[in-house]
Amino acid sequence: MIYSKLQVLISIDELATMKVEEVIKIPKRKGGPMSLNPWQEAVTNLEAVAKQIGLDENLLKIIEKPDRVLEFKLVVKKDDGSYTVFTGFRSQHNNARGPYKGGIRFHPGVTKEEVMALSLWMTLKCAVVGIPYGGGKGGVIVDPHKLSPAELERLSRAYARAVAPIIGPDKDVPAPDVNTNAQIMAWMVDEYSHLKGELSLATFTGKPIEMGGSQGRTEATGRGGVDVLNSLAKYYKLSPKETTVAIQGFGNVGSWFATFAAQEGYKVVAVSDSRGTIYNPQGLDIEEVVKTKKEKGSVTGASGEKLGRDDVLSLDVDVLVPAALEGAINETNAEGIKAKYVIEMANGPTTVEAEKILLKKGVKVIPDVLANAGGVTVSYFEWVQNRQGYYWPKAEVFAKLEKIMAQAFDEMMAKVEEKGLTHRQAAYANALTKIAAAVKQRLS
Ligand code: GLU
Repeated sequence: MIYSKLQVLISIDELATMKVEEVIKIPKRKGGPMSLNPWQEAVTNLEAVAKQIGLDENLLKIIEKPDRVLEFKLVVKKDDGSYTVFTGFRSQHNNARGPYKGGIRFHPGVTKEEVMALSLWMTLKCAVVGIPYGGGKGGVIVDPHKLSPAELERLSRAYARAVAPIIGPDKDVPAPDVNTNAQIMAWMVDEYSHLKGELSLATFTGKPIEMGGSQGRTEATGRGGVDVLNSLAKYYKLSPKETTVAIQGFGNVGSWFATFAAQEGYKVVAVSDSRGTIYNPQGLDIEEVVKTKKEKGSVTGASGEKLGRDDVLSLDVDVLVPAALEGAINETNAEGIKAKYVIEMANGPTTVEAEKILLKKGVKVIPDVLANAGGVTVSYFEWVQNRQGYYWPKAEVFAKLEKIMAQAFDEMMAKVEEKGLTHRQAAYANALTKIAAAVKQRLS
């Protein structure tokens, strides 16, 4: 099935009869079907929790919409001398608790609504883990795999130039997200620093270690996710050895989550990428899977049973970890999920409708705004180290990260127990309380 702009499912057979132009026009829905666009998804959840916790309607109104959303064109010279025009965005959602903070994604499915939703989730995420930032997010509508390295560099530099007037260490601090990495941050810092006439390391995080990056930033989202898994296991009395885990997505986040989970004795029985799922009920050899992915471009060449791409979602496991894109768990597949716990390592992987189905089945969904907050937390450490000019060893970074993740998990569980909220509602409630307090103090 392919998902069209009009929210219509088109079968492969229908697709075969369509003209090429029609096929090309269909933007690939990234994770799967959603009945609402990502912004509507984000707002639906936010408004429901605001009501539940009795948040003043005026405060909600002030918090909800992004402070500003910048849309711009990026003109990039191709290697053959021609020019391509891309569309870029930066959404600055809220800076009541600190500078806007959040990644930049390069993906063909990027939309303004998606970037806005992601920026709202960043505001919540930074509040959930108590780091002094607001929320922002950026994106470019592009398939970076179709660019040469030189074209990718020119696109990255063009993006930095476009947002230069609105970013800075105390304004807005971008970082990597889907399809962006430390090298892209290095190009952006270089471009931004040239414009500023001074080196400005703390304007971007997720940089290479050699130019102001933090130890452990690359692994941080996965590392923080496994800290959450440990907290979850402790709280619900699961023994790691007997806890089976399936991970959807084997990019930076999924692969590091798998690596740390396996190292800590969890049974990672399945991982997937866009080409398929690899499954071994006895537990996969994650080192081998990582090596296979690196060498062959997919996990599917590793030893284990080869299953279809989406089969990873419906396996009989204890913990399911969506670590790919929005909408992966949706109305069409939520019923088939057998896991007892979902740890959201992607942003927005469970649609509002799907979550209702999961909750009815008794599945506990640990929300993205907590589960994947390890990345932005180590981004915060990187920003602090840049400003101090004093760098910490990896063990110190991970120890500090673990403390923050465990505390945020405990705060969420306290709200779940006290108010009978779901995990997502509890995390949102904690975040909204902190954001609302900061917003209120600024009002006259
Ligand atoms: N893109 C990551 C996220 O969604 C990291 C953001 C950051 O480090 O600022 O949390």
